[in-house]
Amino acid sequence: RIYVLRIGHRPVRDHRVTTHVGLVARAFGADGLFLEEKVEDSVVQTIRKVCYTWGGDFKVEKLKDPINFVREWKNKGIVVHLTMYGLNIADESMLNLIKSSERDILVVVGGEKVPRILYDLADYNIAIGNQPHSEVAALAIFLDRFFDGRELLRNFPGARVRIIPSSRGKKIQRVM
Ligand code: SAM
Repeated sequence: RIYVLRIGHRPVRDHRVTTHVGLVARAFGADGLFLEEKVEDSVVQTIRKVCYTWGGDFKVEKLKDPINFVREWKNKGIVVHLTMYGLNIADESMLNLIKSSERDILVVVGGEKVPRILYDLADYNIAIGNQPHSEVAALAIFLDRFFDGRELLRNFPGARVRIIPSSRGKKIQRVM
């Protein structure tokens, strides 16, 4: 299973970005999202509401001590930290190592500033290209490469609505 941890949330300013990290994590195949305690409850509620409507089994949880959580995660799984300073994902040998791991994966994305200790705790510091961009984009590309695009075809069980893809307009079907 693969989970995402977002650290470095700035209350109010990052409301939308952190929500988007959650929506991207879910839509691109992750099993859940861990957030810092200071993240607004409305962020958690928005993501949960999307899960309720659009289905899937995606969990959202706040953590009291994210760094300690990462430390403990390493007892049962691996930690992939997405950072522009890391090894470029375009070098597929790193990605293949991660893909071949049979342990749970925690993908950590940062915000404005990432604590130094994370670079050391991470089993892999991976860059989605070595240019600065965004945690939302980095997460999307990482998950898409991790799943080789298969996540885009995934079914979300328990959905109340689903889209009927169409070349024009919006077609939505109520499922339950
Ligand atoms: N200056 C910050 C730092 O300490 O690394 C980066 C800030 S950036 C706006 C926020 C987050 O986006 C980073 O913590 C990282 O997770 C992600 N990110 C941005 N560019 C990235 C890249 N090229 N590769 C991987 N992750 C990236």
